Amino acid sequence: MSDASVHEGGCLCGQVRYSFTGDPLLVALCHCTHCRKQGGAPLSLICAVADEAYSERGETRIYEDRGESGAAVYRHFCATCGSPIRSMAAVLPGLTIVKAGTLDTPDQWPPVLEAYCDSALNWMPPITDQRFARSNIGE
Ligand SMILES: [Zn+2]
Repeated sequence: MSDASVHEGGCLCGQVRYSFTGDPLLVALCHCTHCRKQGGAPLSLICAVADEAYSERGETRIYEDRGESGAAVYRHFCATCGSPIRSMAAVLPGLTIVKAGTLDTPDQWPPVLEAYCDSALNWMPPITDQRFARSNIGE
């Protein structure tokens, strides 16, 4: 895929739209309890992209969460419909963690690994062959 390709997504109501250029640096599944609560889903599909590759328009609100290390994780969500859009972790400077279920084409990149498998729901079968008990990327 071309690095010049532009990928777009947005929230449920359409008020927040975003795009990033190039392929994600990482595509993963997160089983952590915070992603589960925020998304209301058994797990979360996430794409890591460079901050400078990402742009967004529309009004978001930000919930200041805490990661496992105690460092801040800023969870951005649509101010109107509440869709989670991205997470910005203090331990991951320079990276925007996109909640990839909001992509217009969310099946474009299969996840390569799973994080926080310690918290995976017990009926959830393995999806990738790289399964980390906790975080591999620090969220
Ligand atoms: Zn919305």
